[in-house]
Formats: sequence, C-alpha cells, structure tokens
Amino acid sequence: MTGSATPATPATPPGREARVPLLELRDLRVTFPVAGGVARAVDGLDLLVEAGETVGLVGESGCGKSVTALAILRLVGPDGHIAHGSSVRLEGRDLLALPGKEMRAVRGNHVALVFQEPLSALNPVLRIGAQIAEAVRAHESVTRATARWRAIEMLTMVGLPEAERRARQYPHQLSGGMRQRVMIAMALVCRPKLLIADEPTTALDVTIQAEILELLAELQRKLGMAVLLITHNLGLVAETTQRVAVMYGGQIVEEAATEALFARAAHPYTEGLLAAVPRLDEPRERLRVIPGQVPPATSWPAGCRFHPRCPYAWERCRTEAPPLLEAAPGHRARCWLVEEPARRTRADAPPGEKP
Ligand code: SF4
Repeated sequence: MTGSATPATPATPPGREARVPLLELRDLRVTFPVAGGVARAVDGLDLLVEAGETVGLVGESGCGKSVTALAILRLVGPDGHIAHGSSVRLEGRDLLALPGKEMRAVRGNHVALVFQEPLSALNPVLRIGAQIAEAVRAHESVTRATARWRAIEMLTMVGLPEAERRARQYPHQLSGGMRQRVMIAMALVCRPKLLIADEPTTALDVTIQAEILELLAELQRKLGMAVLLITHNLGLVAETTQRVAVMYGGQIVEEAATEALFARAAHPYTEGLLAAVPRLDEPRERLRVIPGQVPPATSWPAGCRFHPRCPYAWERCRTEAPPLLEAAPGHRARCWLVEEPARRTRADAPPGEKP
C-alpha cells in the first residue's frame, strides 16, 4: 500500500466533497504560556464535522482534546492563545474573526457544550428552570412565560420525571444523572446545530452512563444536530459515532469511518488504544498497555511524536515528522508505516503476530 501525503486538508468522507461542512478546523494551533516555555496544546489540527453526524475525538488525557473543544468556542481563557493562521469555520463562517457579540450568539445558539461535571456549569443558587429559561432569553426575544414553557418542554424531552416540579428545584437537589440531563436540556434548548460533548458520562455510574448516551442519540435523531464526542473511551466511540479522529501530541494521528478504524487501525497509537480495551473473548494477560506517557506539550519529540512509545519506530520516525497519509479511501494516518507497511514488525511480538 502506498500512501499519499495530504497534510493540509482534513479527510472528507467519500461522497461529501461538494458540501460546505458544518464545522471545519484547519491548522488549529493553541498555545499556553507555562513556566519555562510554551505549551503547544493543539498543534496543527484539521477536522471536519458534517451536519447531523457524530464524530468521536479520542485520545489520552493531555493530548489536546478538551482544548480543541474550548478553542472552537473561543473559550481558551485569558492565557490560551489561538495562533494566527488557525481556522475554525461553522457553515463556512470564520468564528475566529467574529466580533465578541456575534461569537456569544454562536455559543449556545449554534454550538453548545456539555462536559463532565454539570455542577460546575450550573448556578447553585438558581432554580434549574430559571437557568434554562435564561439560556433561551439570552438568544431569543421571547417572553418570560414562553422561555419558562420552553424550559419545561426541554426538561421533559431529556426525560426528567415531573419536569414542572423539578424546574423549581436547585442543582444540589438532583442526582448526578439528573444534573447531566439538565445540562443537556440547557445546551439543547436553543436547538444548536452542533453539540460538543466533552467526556459527558465519565463522572457517572455505568448504568446512568448508558442512559445518558441513549438520550443523546435519541435527541440527535429528533433534533438533527451533529455531535462531536470527546472521550478517552473507545467503547463509547464504537457504539455511538460514525467517524472517529484519534488525537495524539496535539494533532490528529488517524481519522476514518468508525467501522474501518475498529476493523483495521492504521496508526500504532490507535492499535495500542484498541489493544488496551478489555475484551470478554480474550484472556486478561493479552491486554497490552501503551508504554510511557504522553510527552509534555512544551517539548513534543522530534520526528513522529509517538516514536518514543511506538513498538515499530525506526530511524526515519525519529527524524522525519509524518503528514497524514491516505491508508485507504477516507482513512488517513500520520504514520510512515502507510508508505512502508513491511516495517510493521514489532520487536516484542509473538512469532504468530509477525507478518
Ligand atoms: Fe510509529 Fe514510526 Fe508510525 Fe510514528 S511514524 S507511529 S514511530 S511507525
């Protein structure tokens, strides 16, 4: 298989070439000043999300996933800096060039964010119905009564029992799962086109996690929004997404249709993530962990950023940084193995696994 370099353009899913994507990130770079240097948290990231689809953004903590989410909404804080030349487009509109007032209108109205800990997003001294109604009135000129009605309608839609009574309660009076439902209601009350869900179920019990995921899928079907699901959990990605982008070292290292990626990972990092997922049909001792840790964003390794942890690394990997290479139509990996597949021989592999 011979790969072709396509460094500057995100992979376009087959058959979708002519449309303007819902979200298009190109060469996104976000830096933070840290003691003794600059952390390049996101470092040349390209990503497309089409209307109505669910895309998973996967990687270990520290790989830049959450910073990417915040950068889309221009919420990287006073220290974060989105570098000149980065591009974030929503239906073709350059979000990085929007005046502050227009950007505030985009947040919540067109793009909404749900994250791990709802308590930190909800105001503890405001009743939940009032908070959701406030979100409506921030974006639409409707009466208080209409906003309140919309809040209760949304609480019903997210499956909160006795929505009218619950609307009068404060966040601390609800369980973790209910609070997450309230946060989803608040995020979706203005019917955004894109929901960014950043580890939306990580803090919840397993059974509640499944309910929240089911709810998100149902709301997506009803409201027709796209979802960018940010997670470290590959199982979640397999169940809920159509496409997946794997992030490492502030960059996308592999991107493909979810089925294709799970069937045949092209990047050794993805391979390592998949091998680390427990499977019922495999004995426990076959589980592998990826050796080492994500390097600090202040000093990404030269060449391929994954080379210090990669079981296949050879000299080229240590000196030349691979671009995203096409491993198959719609499937790209930032790895020289795409060009030199015969090198896929790990020193520690059992004889049966060697090609
Ligand atoms: Fe491993 Fe080399 Fe591929 Fe990087 S380019 S992932 S070091 S084989």
